Amino acid sequence: MVRRVAVVGAGVSGLAAIKCCLEEGLEPTCFERSDAVGGLWYYTDKAEEGRASIYRTVFTNSCKEMSCYPDFPFPDDHPNYMHNTRLQHYICKFAEHFGLLQHIQFKTLVTKVRKHSNFSVTGQWEVVTQSNGKEETTVFDAVMVCSGQQVYPNLPFADFPGIEKFKGCYFHSREYKEPEKFRGKKVLVIGLGNSGSDIAVELSTMASQVYLSTRSGSWVMKRVWDNGYPWDMLVITRFQTWLGKILPRALSDWLYVRRMNRSFKHENFGLMPLDRASRKEPVLNDDLPGRIACGAVVIKPDVKEFRETSVLFQDGTVQDDVDVVVFATGYIYSYPFMEDHSIIKSRDNEVTLYKGIIPPQLEKPTIAVIGLVQTLGAIIPTVDLQCRWAVKVFEGRKPKAASPFLSSLPQRHGSGTTLQPDYITYTDELASAIGVKPSMMKLLVTDPRLALEVFFGPCTPYQFRLMGPGKWCGARKAILTQWDRTLR
Ligand code: FAD
Repeated sequence: MVRRVAVVGAGVSGLAAIKCCLEEGLEPTCFERSDAVGGLWYYTDKAEEGRASIYRTVFTNSCKEMSCYPDFPFPDDHPNYMHNTRLQHYICKFAEHFGLLQHIQFKTLVTKVRKHSNFSVTGQWEVVTQSNGKEETTVFDAVMVCSGQQVYPNLPFADFPGIEKFKGCYFHSREYKEPEKFRGKKVLVIGLGNSGSDIAVELSTMASQVYLSTRSGSWVMKRVWDNGYPWDMLVITRFQTWLGKILPRALSDWLYVRRMNRSFKHENFGLMPLDRASRKEPVLNDDLPGRIACGAVVIKPDVKEFRETSVLFQDGTVQDDVDVVVFATGYIYSYPFMEDHSIIKSRDNEVTLYKGIIPPQLEKPTIAVIGLVQTLGAIIPTVDLQCRWAVKVFEGRKPKAASPFLSSLPQRHGSGTTLQPDYITYTDELASAIGVKPSMMKLLVTDPRLALEVFFGPCTPYQFRLMGPGKWCGARKAILTQWDRTLR
């Protein structure tokens, strides 16, 4: 019987894990290395070892109605996209409201997670922690790994010949905090992801010139979409997912490319993805096209070679007098506390997990990795469902078999092959396995107004707390008033 659950990390995933354990009558103990909840959203002026680090001006790129915990909407007066401090405030309020703080041991580092000697019978784990110089080993019936994915930088220097000769300064984007000290400098940002484009745009207000190098291009979307509504409330709907499934692939690809090119033609801006129909996570940036149009950001292809003070690009152009290079090259997955690394990472350094959560090869499914799967949707509702699903698996209550899938995740983020399942398909799969997927038929018969909003409206997190175990009585009202809060 699983009773005691160790949760590693108190970011948004760890908090969801604690809450789900409590809902199932389990006893969670969460270990958090820092002195606060929030993980990535707990901003500090300096990047801290083993913890995600963001720059001062990070705003969310998923809107408040799509990003909340499903039974804890954001207050009405919050803007649709939020500065990191506002989101952090919400996370703290969530932890307080549900009484999660008392289950967290702060300033406690998990140094080892290993199978207990009788693991094959009990599925138990030994968790070694360090706090105040004291080491402690505790046995748990299950472990939820919520230690974050944007922590350990991917710095592929082997792909950048000559970097050791380069005399300017270079660093990973996780070290970047604010633009002031780059005033008047020539900066090259490598990588057209969310961080790379944000940093390039921000630096372009201070630097003398910013170059943004991209190997394969990317779709760039604005937060503000048709008629000024949040992009995700219009794009992430059950109707759109259904259309995507029934339309022939060629037609759906054509529509996708047309939609992505609607506000500006990517080809003209040097941003066109190499694989046009690629559904690789788009970059969310409201200002990049404008900064390119003003020449403040210049798009460049992949770097061929670094020289002492200049950079040669694949198209043969050379940029002289480059002062600073920011490697916005993503992160590698790493779980340094796992004694047996192969439990999460396989031999070829890939992560293979059942439903993107549970290592398939274990005799007992008592360890879950939360927050690793990346979808186009927001993380909070995704991890809430992952935790609810994982806890059911721990308890041995075999979830109803939805088509099982093994998610194979290459170790480097941002590579074109990173598994990014469709948000609604993935969350629905978890939801139906635990009996909380909204039944459209039932809703149509009993509550047609709600049914229409659930199907044609945004797939907001409340949908997964409408019915079944863990139902929240406020979910119906939250769905029917979601546009009101958006307009507020
Ligand atoms: P983290 O937030 O990284 O938390 C992990 C926690 O585990 C940390 O508190 C850490 O201290 C702790 N920890 C780690 N190792 C140990 C250990 N050994 N012992 C004890 N404690 C440990 N997602 C969205 O949905 N919407 C957005 O708008 C959005 N914007 C983003 C913007 C940026 C710049 C980035 C980088 C990511 C963004 N994301 C966004 C994705 C982001 O990953 C998630 O929002 C989320 O914060 C991840 O939460 P987490 O709890 O899984 O991990």
